[in-house]
Amino acid sequence: MVKFVQISDKLVIILLGPPGSGKGTQAELLAEKFDLCHVESSEIIEKHLANAKKGDYVIVKGKKYFLLEEKKLRESGRLTSFPLITFWMTSRIKELAKEGKGIVASGWPRSLYEIKEEMPIFERFYGKKNIKVILIELSDKEVIRRNTHRKTCELMRHPILYSKETAKLTRCPFDGSKLLIRKDDNPEAIKLRLREYRKNTLPLVDYFKKQGLKVKKINGEQSVADVFKNILKALK
Ligand SMILES: [Zn+2]
Repeated sequence: MVKFVQISDKLVIILLGPPGSGKGTQAELLAEKFDLCHVESSEIIEKHLANAKKGDYVIVKGKKYFLLEEKKLRESGRLTSFPLITFWMTSRIKELAKEGKGIVASGWPRSLYEIKEEMPIFERFYGKKNIKVILIELSDKEVIRRNTHRKTCELMRHPILYSKETAKLTRCPFDGSKLLIRKDDNPEAIKLRLREYRKNTLPLVDYFKKQGLKVKKINGEQSVADVFKNILKALK
């Protein structure tokens, strides 16, 4: 029996960039523009880890991952174990693909391990021509400045980028809920996240090129509107 495989004509847009490059904000804009589902790895990880109790674990490929240990890793600025996050993300991709929804990915994939498992799923459900990769670039200095000031709203997790205009905001401009500084946004944790980004995520650029995909680079040190304009241009 031949298995029928649906290839959706929806896009998969993968936004790469260091922490604080505005991936989340751009992803929101892209989701609206192209009718895509904005999938954030941090949201999925936090959902799974929120109520973790001592001894809770998930088995991936025969290995146990203890959720409280993963939570501690995360709070110190390290990445969640690759097999575990990959398991959660591939499950989510398959769900969305079956619902016929396109995806804009911000904050993931974070490692070669992860993309090597996700790429065949993306290709199978969406087709290679619909996979778009954008790299938002930012200097280290700007990464640290932005991250130590970054806020997220309590209700919808709207990311609020640090800028002159938002420096004094205490309430979310979209829904009025309280703005919080994330617990893991201290300078030491951010430097560690930046190192992890270089070591684990930047190698994805070469991986995508080897897969025959173009990686479009965007200067992230512009206004949100200009970054968005450049991304739209790059997607054409
Ligand atoms: Zn909000």
